[in-house]
Amino acid sequence: MRAMESNRTNLKRLLEAASPLIDLALAEDLMVGGEGHCPAIADPSTQSTIDSGACMVARIVAKDRGVIAGLAVAEELLRRVDPRIEWIAEVEDGQAVVPGECIAVISGPAVSLLAAERAALNFLQRLSGIATATRDMVDAVVATDATILDTRKTVPGFRVLDKYAVWIGGGENHRLSLGDMLLIKDNHIDAIGSLSGAVSRARTAHPELLLEVEVANMAQLDEALAIQPPVDRILLDNLSLEQMAEAVQLASGRVPLEASGNVTLETVRAISATGVDYISVGGLTHSASALDLSMRVEDTAHPEADRAIEQIREVKRRLGERLIVLGHHYIRDDVLEYADLRGDSLELARRAAETNAEFIVFCGVRFMAETGATLAKDGQRVFSASSHAGCVLADTARLDAVREAWDKITHVVGEADRIVPIVYVNSASELKAFCGKRGGVVCTSANAKRIVEHVIADRKRVFFLPDRHLGGNTARALGLSDEEILIWHSERAPQEDAIRSAQVILWPGACNVHQRFRVEQITHQRMEDPAVRIVVHPECNPRVVSLADEAGSTSQIIRLVEDSPAGTHWAIGTEARLVYRLATVHPEKTVELLSDVPPYCAGMSEVTLDGLARTLESLETAQPVEEVVLDEAISQAARVAIERMLAWSV
Ligand code: SF4
Repeated sequence: MRAMESNRTNLKRLLEAASPLIDLALAEDLMVGGEGHCPAIADPSTQSTIDSGACMVARIVAKDRGVIAGLAVAEELLRRVDPRIEWIAEVEDGQAVVPGECIAVISGPAVSLLAAERAALNFLQRLSGIATATRDMVDAVVATDATILDTRKTVPGFRVLDKYAVWIGGGENHRLSLGDMLLIKDNHIDAIGSLSGAVSRARTAHPELLLEVEVANMAQLDEALAIQPPVDRILLDNLSLEQMAEAVQLASGRVPLEASGNVTLETVRAISATGVDYISVGGLTHSASALDLSMRVEDTAHPEADRAIEQIREVKRRLGERLIVLGHHYIRDDVLEYADLRGDSLELARRAAETNAEFIVFCGVRFMAETGATLAKDGQRVFSASSHAGCVLADTARLDAVREAWDKITHVVGEADRIVPIVYVNSASELKAFCGKRGGVVCTSANAKRIVEHVIADRKRVFFLPDRHLGGNTARALGLSDEEILIWHSERAPQEDAIRSAQVILWPGACNVHQRFRVEQITHQRMEDPAVRIVVHPECNPRVVSLADEAGSTSQIIRLVEDSPAGTHWAIGTEARLVYRLATVHPEKTVELLSDVPPYCAGMSEVTLDGLARTLESLETAQPVEEVVLDEAISQAARVAIERMLAWSV
């Protein structure tokens, strides 16, 4: 319930809260308060083995996948140990990292670096562990509108730091302290023997505060819902899934509902599917595991990256035009540098198929390489730079669940040819094939409007997969009302009447990158600069798209920025790397992210120089790695759906 604050405010507050904790951490390990501007260091192991004048370069490296948070705290700690330490962050808070990835390069007096190592890593590992756990939860509920919240179950003294990490992970912060809002819990109710009595007293005493009331059963829920004026939120404490679903029906949007109690990664998806608005998770801060990071001493800053670059250059030189490397706009800059073509996924697949390259290597997520394999000519072989690079949106549409929905929909609307499945290109090849076999068609974010219009003009209904926001935004842009648009729920299929009256049925999937942009971010940007132009991707939620000045595909966003006059201020709602790149390429304009927590695609982060080098090195061997080989029937049916798109979108 806390108002959105700017990143700068959050960082300032983080460092203020961290300051005494840093002192404590250093006091635990070091003798502080020495001569001059540096604290005296009591580290006999280091001091007895390393020359006091020696300098070193070290890298903080990820040993596991995760989301980084707390870089500013680690930097502050190192500088406090010795102001001569140089710190260069290689990533920023919020960025997803992979094993082996360099987080920061630090250099300076060896004695200082080694003495400060443990304390700096302790902060970084804890906060990154919380951000990682939060991101996992947020991703797990991506197919619903539920928001993940933290609680006050934080390590004493670490409240601000822990909540900062939750915010960086994509969650929202519940109250920071008791004084932030009124939360009437079971003990308050038991103490005076009445839920409405407790609410009334609290409201009279503090009318200025938001009020939430906890209910432990359906009778209390009825009582809480009957309170007038309505309370600001109702907390469902340890209710069963059935009770939560019933509570959603009873509240019918009048009061936001928050689910709480025993929420884990295994249970959170089912909880979100009940339709609750918020899910608070104490485990994010009281039981998150630390992200495994370590500090490695190196002679040079990037020896592994240098080796990978050498290998990539050598293979490209050797294979010449027999090889083409494709790079999506969302991958890392250091990898994109070695792409022969840059672009959106379908555009890349089509352009590669027009070349005579024998080896096509995709630097992007898995479905992109599959699209490449679908469109490749005879004799062309397609490879991925990383098989770990998945897409959260594509993964929301499991084929068995889609098939079940399709059977139910076609059973209700009658003949299957009265409904057309439209599948967004950001999907697995199996899903494209499923649609291709049923008279369906692929679309991109750039041509979705034309494709949906084509189907509706033919007096047919649409089953749009897997992105509910792109499908919904497109339908609304064509003038359809909310009553004509239905979101499918796998766990509880909609009523037959609702299916019958829907013109467009949306699979409930969403992209966890674009889903993170919010209306408050637009409001904040416009308050800061009324002249700002806001452009977002149509995978963002409908309220964000409706408030933006423009919505467009990745290529359309790039063109908008390129074609705008110098001095234009853009706030952009899409993947962080693309926005940062546009800002670098266009210094004559102000280009920034719409959100203050950078939205990185974790799948795209998996594509590294090492991965690309490994794939390229193996191309001519007997056992090449990461080759994408599709079942022939799937490939053919997916191609049919793509060819229909080309025919319908002209
Ligand atoms: S940005 Fe979203 S849709 Fe694109 S690959 Fe990442 S998760 Fe998938």
